[in-house]
Amino acid sequence: MNDKKTTYTGDIIQGIPVINNLNINDLEQNKVYRFMFQGSAMNIGQPWFVPLLVARGAKAGKSLLLNTGIHGDELNGIKVIQQLFAQLDTSQLAGTIIGVLQASPNSLVHINKNWLLSTDGGDFENMNRLFPGKENGNSAEQHAYLLWNNLWRGNVDYMIDLHSQSTDTEYPLFVFADYRNVLAQQMAELIPADQIKNDEGEIGTVETTFIQHGIPAITIELGAARIFQSDYIQRTLIGIRNILAKFGFSNNQITDTALSNNTFIGNQMISIRALHGGYTEMLVSIGEDVNYDQLVAYQINQFGDIIREYRTPTAGKVLSVGTSAIREAGGLLVRILYNTPN
Ligand SMILES: [Zn+2]
Repeated sequence: MNDKKTTYTGDIIQGIPVINNLNINDLEQNKVYRFMFQGSAMNIGQPWFVPLLVARGAKAGKSLLLNTGIHGDELNGIKVIQQLFAQLDTSQLAGTIIGVLQASPNSLVHINKNWLLSTDGGDFENMNRLFPGKENGNSAEQHAYLLWNNLWRGNVDYMIDLHSQSTDTEYPLFVFADYRNVLAQQMAELIPADQIKNDEGEIGTVETTFIQHGIPAITIELGAARIFQSDYIQRTLIGIRNILAKFGFSNNQITDTALSNNTFIGNQMISIRALHGGYTEMLVSIGEDVNYDQLVAYQINQFGDIIREYRTPTAGKVLSVGTSAIREAGGLLVRILYNTPN
């Protein structure tokens, strides 16, 4: 139930009206809105603003939230939302699509995975571990609280959070989905991804917070940080249009899916991380099948001597690799997706 009203603060930013509360039912049908949502305040007293689009279909229906920009170095997702809205015809749409373009403006300003705090000379929070936020927390927790309570809660029937891998690492087109939620599984398998992980989620993520509230949600990881990758963007758009068709938002045909794309679906993943600082030679690439005890990477020191070799603890498929030629201890080298019977 949505008990709040769409509230305009009276401010206009870049020609766009500012709101601090959204109720999609207050908005006219057959129309696309642009808003700036007022988030938490900076140390200088000025608010962070989150730009968003709301498309109201000519016909009533369900609501899909597309969210991106939770992590500030992950950029592919904004292009997905921009292109979807550019090609959207609200006269043919039943229901509502909300596109949140820069969920964590603080993190995007810094092209950083984390939300940076000025407190005590500098601290940070991973926004994708803070939901549903804290009303009286720090600025990151308050921002999460405002997104959850004033923008999303009551407005969303299906949710897709668009991410990529972090800086210096890379995924293919990859989906996290909690298969205990049948609709989340259906959503995941409507994406013509390379790999899917049936995953119980992590407390505090956007996806898991929606799942905990009974709303089907998935996380799509589009490749690498900091760049636009058109293949992943286009296949994500195909998947979102499939989801719109499947759940009654459009009369489109379902096209390429996980089934037709022969997507690899695993239920376990394991990360091989650097145990030492040094230069890294990677011996495998994303999507490659690896055997148990296969040599996948090694590190050399500044003189070129081999200091560490890394072997697989299990057979499986390479899900992610470190792309930087230099890694310190703890840095990801190889992540493997695989299956166990349970
Ligand atoms: Zn992310």
